[in-house]
Amino acid sequence: MAVYNADAIVIRSREYGESDKLLTLFSRERGKLEAVAKGVRKPKSTQRGGTQLFTYADFLLYKGKSLDTVSQVHPRESFIHIWNDFDRTIAASGIAELLDISTTREQTESELFTLTLGFLFLLKYVDPYIAQAAYALRLLNIQGYLPGLNNCVECGTAVGGTQTFLSAEAGGLLCSGCKNNEAGRMLSGGGLALMRRLKTVELDKLDRFRWNKKMRIEILDGLCYFSENKFERKLKAWRSGSEMII
Ligand SMILES: [Zn+2]
Repeated sequence: MAVYNADAIVIRSREYGESDKLLTLFSRERGKLEAVAKGVRKPKSTQRGGTQLFTYADFLLYKGKSLDTVSQVHPRESFIHIWNDFDRTIAASGIAELLDISTTREQTESELFTLTLGFLFLLKYVDPYIAQAAYALRLLNIQGYLPGLNNCVECGTAVGGTQTFLSAEAGGLLCSGCKNNEAGRMLSGGGLALMRRLKTVELDKLDRFRWNKKMRIEILDGLCYFSENKFERKLKAWRSGSEMII
């Protein structure tokens, strides 16, 4: 049986069989992988810590016919700061979920790996939902979606002064003249200006950003709508605890 190493983050973890877990890993070398961690739900399992959601670890995996199996795992970082805080747990779940629905298996995406790992560390001191929004804007940009936030995708007119329309069908922003009766989300001038800053600002300055509930809902709901339509999957963690997030 072939064995391989993966420098990876656990982005999804489900109960599997009587005492196993089915993990979705996002690795630096091979992108998204699925693997079974056998017996890790038993109290005495030595692999328990390394297979928890969000953990960043060195994995040794056996290549299987249909599913790979975790042979060894050496945790590098378990992100205790995320687990110690409800909002940080929700935001990290939103980040992991977006990464999962927007990628396909075994396609190397080292830029996305670096982005995700960086944001899990950033959740230590940045407003968690600011981090979630900034992450989503950057992920969409890396994948070639929502590339520009300055001009209407139909006519090229500069947008932002007045109300702008976010349309998944059109693939970006529409000015009021090009907006027809499509489904989508309205963005305020302030909301769009903040999205531009969150997309481009240096990561070490993200901790300076603050927003009110109205702005948070406008931006997170817009990004959730756009991503769900682009990737044709639901983002459940983004809408869990609706009072707290969207
Ligand atoms: Zn237009």
